[in-house]
Amino acid sequence: MYVAEELAKLHHLTVEDITRITAYNAWRFFKIGKAPETSIVYPIGDALYVNVTNRCNADCVFCGRKETPFLAGYNLGMDKNDEPDVQQYVTAIGAPMKYSEIVFCGYGEPTIRWDVIKSVAGFVKENGGKTRINTNGPGNVINHRDITPEMEGLIDTISVSLNATDAKKYAELMRVDEKMYAEMLDFTKKAKKFVPTVVLSVVGIPDVDIEKARSIAVDEIGVNFRERTYF
Ligand code: SF4
Repeated sequence: MYVAEELAKLHHLTVEDITRITAYNAWRFFKIGKAPETSIVYPIGDALYVNVTNRCNADCVFCGRKETPFLAGYNLGMDKNDEPDVQQYVTAIGAPMKYSEIVFCGYGEPTIRWDVIKSVAGFVKENGGKTRINTNGPGNVINHRDITPEMEGLIDTISVSLNATDAKKYAELMRVDEKMYAEMLDFTKKAKKFVPTVVLSVVGIPDVDIEKARSIAVDEIGVNFRERTYF
C-alpha cells in the first residue's frame, strides 16, 4: 500500500487508479487475473467520462482502439450492439454534481450518437452538472445537419481534435478524406456561437507544428488551444 500511495502522489493519481492500472498491466502482460469488464462511465481525476461508442469516422494512425481499447486500466471496448441506452448512462452517472464535469467521449467519435448525448446531457444539466464533448469534429457531416445550435444550454465545453495544421496531413494522420479538415474547422467555428468554451487540441507528436496549431486555434478560429498527450 505504501508503494501505491507513493506512485499515486508521483503521478497525480489516486490509489484506486494505481490499483486498477496495476491489475490491468498484470492481466495484459502476464495474463494474471481477468480482463477488466467494459466501463460505460469511468472517473479520471474529478471528472466522469462517458464511454459513448467505439465507432469512429476516422482511423488514425496513432489509434489503438481496435487492438487495445484500454485507458488508464479501464476497458473501453464496446461492440455496436452493446452500446448502452440513455437510461443506462443516467443510472451509471447517478449524481452529476459529484463530478467537476461529465465528459462525452469513449474510444470512438461520440457525435455518431448525438441523440443519446443530447438526452444524457439534458439529464446532467437538469441536475446541476457540467458537460463536455471530446470530438474530432465531424458531427455535422455524420448527422447530415448543423448540430451546433442543438448544443445551446446542453454542452458547456467542446474540445475538438485539430490533429494537424493542413488538410493533407490531417487526411494522412486520420485516414479520412481531405475535405474533413475544412468540415472540422467549420464545425468548430459554428460551435462558438452555442457552446461557452470551445477548445482546439492537438496531440503533441513530432509530426505536428504546435505553434502553427496554436495560431490556427487562437488567431484564425478564435478559440482556446490545448496540447495534449494521447490517451
Ligand atoms: S478520432 Fe479518436 S477514436 Fe477515432 S480513430 Fe482517431 S484517435 Fe481513434
